[in-house]
Amino acid sequence: MSEFKQVALIGLGLIASSISHAMRRAGMETRITGTARSTETRAKAAELGLCEVFETAREAVEGADLIILAVPVGAMAAIAEEISPVLKPGAIVTDVGSVKRAVIDAVQPHIPAGVDFIPGHPLAGTEYSGPESGFASLFDNRWHILTPPDGTNPDAVKRLTEFWKSLGALVDVMEPDHHDLVLAVTSHTPHLIAYTMVGVADDLSRVTESEVIKFSAAGFRDFTRIAASDPTMWRDVFLNNKDATLEILGRFTEELFALQRAIRQGDGEHLFDYFTRTRAIRRGIIEAGQDTDAPNFGREGPSGKDE
Ligand code: NAP
Repeated sequence: MSEFKQVALIGLGLIASSISHAMRRAGMETRITGTARSTETRAKAAELGLCEVFETAREAVEGADLIILAVPVGAMAAIAEEISPVLKPGAIVTDVGSVKRAVIDAVQPHIPAGVDFIPGHPLAGTEYSGPESGFASLFDNRWHILTPPDGTNPDAVKRLTEFWKSLGALVDVMEPDHHDLVLAVTSHTPHLIAYTMVGVADDLSRVTESEVIKFSAAGFRDFTRIAASDPTMWRDVFLNNKDATLEILGRFTEELFALQRAIRQGDGEHLFDYFTRTRAIRRGIIEAGQDTDAPNFGREGPSGKDE
């Protein structure tokens, strides 16, 4: 049960609306306040009853003992600056941004003494955005990574950990640069590759008319789902996790060239060994409970069965 009396959600999109639903599901009686940039989103959030909606972040944060920044990474600094004067002593500020080092650099300078800033990242999401896209089970059995700076009050870390656990998440603590490298491998670079592959297919579809859509097979369809993710969020991820993404992209390109050479030279052994190794990783993810082992990732095809 949350010991926070008032939680402020800044940004009312997929992640913030899911937090609101998950808090309600957990039976928390916490007061939830919040705001978003546009009047449309604020009106929708009020209609959905996600929280008490305010026009500005400053008003939403007033009196809150937990403040969750759930805006794109590039918007964090301005929000932190805006709310800084009204943060209550003893309050905890956290965020849900997909990049951690850049968020720390942007937010930490605005955090007054007596307030703890504990950056966080839920490894949970979908390709949908906005206040209507959230759901209570989004964080269930998904990792939530906290990257508290040195000297953070351990009691505040404990309270925030308990909060995320009560939303269904598993919580781990990591060093921010390590987080950014791990996520460059597991999320950021795969998204870039998906965006690229869908872009290539889009160029090709101008040649093949609608065949790319009509005969779209499982591999390509999964890329299109990932490449449908929010453009603002992902632009900010790449602008703010530049070094790690470029490092992993470099390694990716080398591997791709090696596979390209194996195909050209008819080196079936290389291809077979490589694909055998990668198959084991999929098994590991399923065994860790981070995905389903149902065919086609548990989804049904348009014909009602796996294709
Ligand atoms: P979202 O659904 O697009 O919602 C973003 C919210 O931020 C909207 O309410 C938006 O308001 C507001 N906002 C955008 N720009 C703003 C600005 N300049 N100033 C004030 N408010 C602004 O995004 P989300 O998926 O919830 O993502 C929020 C954060 O979670 C991001 O930092 C992202 O990296 C992180 N995250 C996302 C995922 C995912 O899969 N989506 C997973 C883990 C972490 P308007 O609607 O009025 O524009």
